[in-house]
Amino acid sequence: MWPPLLRLQAALGSGAELVVVGGAVRDELLGRPHADWDLATKLLPRTVMDRARAAGLKVIPTGLQHGTVTVMLEDRPVEITTFRSDGDYLDGRRPESVQLGVSLEEDLSRRDFTINAMALPVGGGDLVDPFGGRADLVARTLRAVGDPLLRFAEDGLRTLRACRFAAQLGFEVEAGTLAAIPERLEVARKVAVERVLAELTKLLCGEEPERGLELLAETGLLDLWLPELRPMIGCGQNRHHRWEVWRHTLEAVRLAPVDPGLRWAALLHDAGKPGAKVMGTDGEVSFHGHEAGSLELAATVLDRLKAAHALRREVLALVRHHGTHPAGDWGDAACRRFLRRLGEDGLDLVRWGAFRLADQRAKGLDLEAREREHAAILARLEALAAAAPPLTVKALALD
Ligand code: ATP
Ligand code: MG
Repeated sequence: MWPPLLRLQAALGSGAELVVVGGAVRDELLGRPHADWDLATKLLPRTVMDRARAAGLKVIPTGLQHGTVTVMLEDRPVEITTFRSDGDYLDGRRPESVQLGVSLEEDLSRRDFTINAMALPVGGGDLVDPFGGRADLVARTLRAVGDPLLRFAEDGLRTLRACRFAAQLGFEVEAGTLAAIPERLEVARKVAVERVLAELTKLLCGEEPERGLELLAETGLLDLWLPELRPMIGCGQNRHHRWEVWRHTLEAVRLAPVDPGLRWAALLHDAGKPGAKVMGTDGEVSFHGHEAGSLELAATVLDRLKAAHALRREVLALVRHHGTHPAGDWGDAACRRFLRRLGEDGLDLVRWGAFRLADQRAKGLDLEAREREHAAILARLEALAAAAPPLTVKALALD
């Protein structure tokens, strides 16, 4: 237990029943790093504030209407929420009211998945685990607390969180929980796009993003927010590819460095292929000029999800420049023009290279030759960029 929590416990007194809850318990038991500590207590928010302040701690009333107070512990904000139960969900997003002062067990029962519904007493003592979360952690299973059809009817975000946690942790979704998702797409549709973007980004940056993406496709969630991607599934490619477009895309996402821009670009980079596919006289398919279609579809997706400007710009630049790039037979002038276009689109050469390498590897064939070729291209571009930085106005004028 993090020592500052013990001092907080002392400040609040033994009757506080101070516990760590939610993601922090799950991640501690899994031995994974976690960004924050979420705490819960029996005390009402006023009492938490008074006692913490009396002990000299800085307190911010961040969400009193939900029962939440934030306390600064060694410059880190820690949220303390009074045990609460949720009133009726009428809009598929949030409860109409919350009731404070319930038991810990009742507080845990409002949580989404069993692995997120455990509590660890700060002052020592056994794990509180009324729904078998620890056993599900061991079995690497994601299971809704209670009846999944009811839980997904209350809050549509939970369907997406199921796919996100499966991707982040590499877990299976329990059969009943999985089967409830397609039944609740109408509720899922009501989720605010900002939250959808946040969950999808976490899914893409997970340990097994391909698992999460397959779940989206299988459950129908894909068709709510990423319908443009559906035609990729089963779209066959030419002899340079081992996989059809969707499998290639899943591979590209998996192989791209863990980073929102690179992973979103990997997801969207070939979206235009199905629409550009033509059959040649030799029986080989080609996707000539698919980047324009991919770019348009990528922009449509990112705009629907209200992606921030910086993310949108980088993803679109990667999609635009993933297809046409220098090969061994390009001259220096063409390479410099290429570098200049990357610069104009605000794209970093290192990130472009990391993305291209993932895309090359995701083709699944001739890997060693592709990696060698890629290393040579990147080394040449880096040398040219170092010799004549392409970004300055002066360099533009000289060219
Ligand atoms: P992470 O912070 O790593 O994304 P987390 O599990 O901590 O994962 P949060 O969104 O921080 O997720 O939520 C904290 C806890 O609140 C969860 O572990 C869960 O117990 C509960 N929770 C969050 N969102 C929901 C929801 N939509 N429905 C029910 N319970 C939820
Ligand atoms: Mg959290």
